[in-house]
Amino acid sequence: MKGACGSEQWQNPKAISESLPPSPPDYLIRGTAAEDNIRVVSVVSTQAVQEARERHQLSYVATVALGRAMSAALLLAADLKEPQARIGLQIRGNGPLGGIHVDAGVDGTVRGYVSNPAIELPLTPEGKLDVGQAVGRYGYLHVVRDLGYGQPYTSTVELVSGEVGDDVSYYLTSSEQIPSAVLLGVSLDSQRVRAAGGVLVQLLPGAPANLISEIESRLSQVEEFTPQLARGKALQELLEIWLGDLDLKLAPEVLPVRFHCPCSSERVKGALRMLERDELLEMIQTDGGAEVVCQFCNKVYRLSEDELRSIVAEMSASQ
Ligand SMILES: [Zn+2]
Repeated sequence: MKGACGSEQWQNPKAISESLPPSPPDYLIRGTAAEDNIRVVSVVSTQAVQEARERHQLSYVATVALGRAMSAALLLAADLKEPQARIGLQIRGNGPLGGIHVDAGVDGTVRGYVSNPAIELPLTPEGKLDVGQAVGRYGYLHVVRDLGYGQPYTSTVELVSGEVGDDVSYYLTSSEQIPSAVLLGVSLDSQRVRAAGGVLVQLLPGAPANLISEIESRLSQVEEFTPQLARGKALQELLEIWLGDLDLKLAPEVLPVRFHCPCSSERVKGALRMLERDELLEMIQTDGGAEVVCQFCNKVYRLSEDELRSIVAEMSASQ
């Protein structure tokens, strides 16, 4: 079963934006509907996507592609129980954007990057950013579930469209066997991400199968998800409009969401300890130190010659 995917970046990014209220902090909410036959998770990720855009200097189309993947990973992570659990989402399509890599936790943290952040493509005839073309129609979506203990496990599906939402709902329906509908949106202008977010609706065991087509049809008709968020509407209000007549019950807890990368100079040193001693000596001789960039957040770590020498000394001592 194919899920609904509102692919609404909708706006010509060069258009002059109307004045908007400052974006509120990001958050995620959960609920049920249809007499507990469906599970609903929804997220606002505007500030996190804006931070990713700034950190990686993303083009318009790269912002929308990565922003959709970030929201999707947060929605998938919300299903995990263990407090350390994380979802890794990797999309490797044949388009010019290269790979999309996202990591999100059940704690509401998210980070991500794309291989080619600067690529831009012509708008579609409808005036939309062409995410499917940028990602590529052919390739794979890998979903890595890391529960915080034991081996993480990876599921892989072929891409359906490269539009991210379709691909994630296909993964859930075919690989996880959970009929699901996904709505992802990012809208932006030349100044900033105006709003980003997503909705995931899943059938719970024993639910009537035709329920998901009803939900898909409702979500596919949503045209103004992120524009409404940008105008200050809360997720709770929007879900009430779309699903309120289906006995929607939203949990009172609201999970704060933020861009966060746990990298540190200690972790960078830990990674350097995995290298061969000769490689470290070469860095010392040719560069007089090392510069390491965290791919996820683009932070630059500079290690002095002395720091590299002490790593080499530790290696020699432990051998
Ligand atoms: Zn980092």
